[in-house]
Amino acid sequence: MAKENTKYIFVVGGVISGVGKGITSSSIGLILKNRGLNVTAIKIDPYINVDAGTMNPTEHGEVFVLGDKDETDQDMGNYERFLDINLTRTNYMTTGRVYQTVIEKERNLEYKGKCVEVVPHIPLEVVRRIKKAGVDAKADVVIVEVGGTVGEYQNMLFLEAARMLKIEQPHNVFFIMVSYLPTPSKVGEMKTKPTQHASRLLNGSGIQADILIARADTPLDEKRKEKLAMFCNIPADKIISAPDVDSVYDIPINFEKEKLSEKLCEIMNVVCKKPDEKRWLAWKNFTKKVHNSKDTLKIAMIGKYFETGDFILSDSYLSVIEAVKYSAYSQNKKPIISWLNATDFEKSPAKLKELKNYDGIIVPGGFGSRGIEGIISTIKFARENKIPYFGLCYGMQLLVIEYARNILGLKDANTREVNPNSKNMVIDVMEEQKELLKNNLYGGSMRLGNYECVLGKGTVAENSYGSKEIIERHRHRYEVNNSFVESLEKKGLVFSGKSPNGKLMEIAELPKKDHPFFLGTQFHPEFLARPLTPHPLFTAFIKACINKKK
Ligand code: GLN
Repeated sequence: MAKENTKYIFVVGGVISGVGKGITSSSIGLILKNRGLNVTAIKIDPYINVDAGTMNPTEHGEVFVLGDKDETDQDMGNYERFLDINLTRTNYMTTGRVYQTVIEKERNLEYKGKCVEVVPHIPLEVVRRIKKAGVDAKADVVIVEVGGTVGEYQNMLFLEAARMLKIEQPHNVFFIMVSYLPTPSKVGEMKTKPTQHASRLLNGSGIQADILIARADTPLDEKRKEKLAMFCNIPADKIISAPDVDSVYDIPINFEKEKLSEKLCEIMNVVCKKPDEKRWLAWKNFTKKVHNSKDTLKIAMIGKYFETGDFILSDSYLSVIEAVKYSAYSQNKKPIISWLNATDFEKSPAKLKELKNYDGIIVPGGFGSRGIEGIISTIKFARENKIPYFGLCYGMQLLVIEYARNILGLKDANTREVNPNSKNMVIDVMEEQKELLKNNLYGGSMRLGNYECVLGKGTVAENSYGSKEIIERHRHRYEVNNSFVESLEKKGLVFSGKSPNGKLMEIAELPKKDHPFFLGTQFHPEFLARPLTPHPLFTAFIKACINKKK
């Protein structure tokens, strides 16, 4: 049963994409949670893909994996980090997922002989999912971020769902439009017209925004607020100025300067409890560290999903970047992350020397063969030159390959993913994956989500976590081949984390006496790093970087 008065706040975007709806939704969630409300958040992605797992990161940014195996959008990571909650697959939907359910229901005769139509059956399924997420989380407030921009064809049915829910529960459904106000350099004046048009487009979907978040280079002046109030039908005090900021973590604080949580409680007609001082102070202290940490650490990220045309897209590794930041700030350090393209090291091996200028090296997750030899050469360099190295998923597998090649002397050691003819397949396909791959069953079929892992006594891993058992999130098809474990261990590599049955190697490391930090995880620790609770392995890596710098 839904709580009687669960409130639904839809967040929609106006004028341009990338206007910060995700961070806005996360920040609104945080300030409402701070007022004692139980908040959950939903992301709606308008694409046909059933989940984000089948897309290249350069298409759509990072694939954020939930504990329950769902492969989702990076905004889900923002919600988890800002709200400090764990979300599940009910919190994520795509057009593909919604249609899939409706079609399955139709095949099962669940529509009892009715003609199943795009309207109302698709929006009704959307509404069912939104309500279910609220029930599952026992939420007072469900924030629903509708991907895309108002006026485009792609998200129309989701806006229609929101409108239908508003008709059903007029006192429980609210709308926030996050819009963009450009200041063309030649004009020199902030322009409200595009936002006025966006507001009309939203009205055309039968929806009136209750609050407008006005994103712009600079704060809004009174004149602009009055204009927007007049032409968007929103009281001036419900128009919130959201100028560009240096750190996204300032946004909840800026919102509260505009009394947004009070205004939201007023609109929703819920009791606005006094803010949770302790949590709020912790958040403020965190943002102080973001701004005041001046001593820098230079971190190299070696990857291949950065470039889109002439632009660099760090979105592909968003969680890794944030995880590095949290741990660095916790040590009062400011991380400077450089993107180094793996293929550059293949073209000019002399470039490897430049790695000496960094305090630490990270190889994040990845797929396929492009750039792999370049990455392996950087890992070798990090090992030989005692530069702290942290490998995430593929970064762990490649660490093992590097060790097998250069320490065990297995020159053609490889992963089946790159060379299916290698005689020394130190990384091989997981048993249960074989059949899936043979039948081209790629979607949502990797080893995904939460798995337990047992840590070896006295290892770097155990010392970092300070516990013997952990749970981390996974996303992979390949794993360390057990027939090489003994010989690798004999030559000094330690498998310091294993699945509870001892069969899967989850962490590989060199002992502290041999290297300041040389560790790789088969899982993705970055998905569990939170601003107020940095991830212990990232913090251990950062500490090693600090020592290296000294
Ligand atoms: N490509 C590797 C695998 O499938 C690693 C995946 C990853 O880095 N997420 O096992």
